[in-house]
Amino acid sequence: MSPTTRRSFLTLASGSAVALSLETADLKGEQLPGQPPSQNSGSQDKNFSNVMAIAAHPGDAFFAMGAPVAVATHLGGQGSLLSLSLGEKGSPTIPTEQYGAMQREAAKKAAAIIGAKALSLTYPDGEIPINEEAKFTVCDLIRQYKPLTIVTHWKGSWHKDHRACYDILDDAIFYAGLPSLVRKEPAHGVTRVFYADNWEDATGFTADTYLDITAVFESWTNACSAFPMWRGETGFRYNDYYGSLAIARGCLSNFHRAVALMSPAEQRVQHIRTP
Ligand SMILES: [Zn+2]
Repeated sequence: MSPTTRRSFLTLASGSAVALSLETADLKGEQLPGQPPSQNSGSQDKNFSNVMAIAAHPGDAFFAMGAPVAVATHLGGQGSLLSLSLGEKGSPTIPTEQYGAMQREAAKKAAAIIGAKALSLTYPDGEIPINEEAKFTVCDLIRQYKPLTIVTHWKGSWHKDHRACYDILDDAIFYAGLPSLVRKEPAHGVTRVFYADNWEDATGFTADTYLDITAVFESWTNACSAFPMWRGETGFRYNDYYGSLAIARGCLSNFHRAVALMSPAEQRVQHIRTP
């Protein structure tokens, strides 16, 4: 069995950052110049056996959150990508209805490339509501797909839909895990939440976790290229940005390619036992 299929995630605590790798070969005690030595702090593979990206728009789900989902499927686990809207108002030239259908089709195609499932809700682009209906809808999808890890938007965003997604998720994850809240599916507790490194959500974003995406970089970027906007057709050069960001984050974490993630404050708490 090759090292990449061995589910050999290790966690390295390096200062305040954690590095998660697919391959033990990358983790032979090497450290970056001037950085404190890393320490093993346990395997994390279980949390990446089912990863769900939940985003405001399909582009966010695939470009900013898709690589961790690709890691899950690469390891033989399950991956899904949910967008709360189709991002149908994202094109300056194509009518919204037509563009929404194109986005849905692109998401389906992109998900198939990385062996994941594309899910979409149809809240209006630019007007995603923060209400109980949306929170329970997302809660039900979390209960149905049972992710151990969710990757979503950080709240420090200039985009109102991204902030709405953050708020919806905060309560949806709570509802999903509440056994006394009776829905169609039984309660499901999400183990890990990570906020994605998204160019639109950069205010106050601080990376504390680096995920090695070397093994999935090619399939993930191929998946992203199913979207015309990946190549800059709506004005932002997503391919150049996220492609080079994976290189830059890889430099910082000593992986060939990596994505940076941010944990919620309560997830960063560590318990150090004295024997
Ligand atoms: Zn967006």
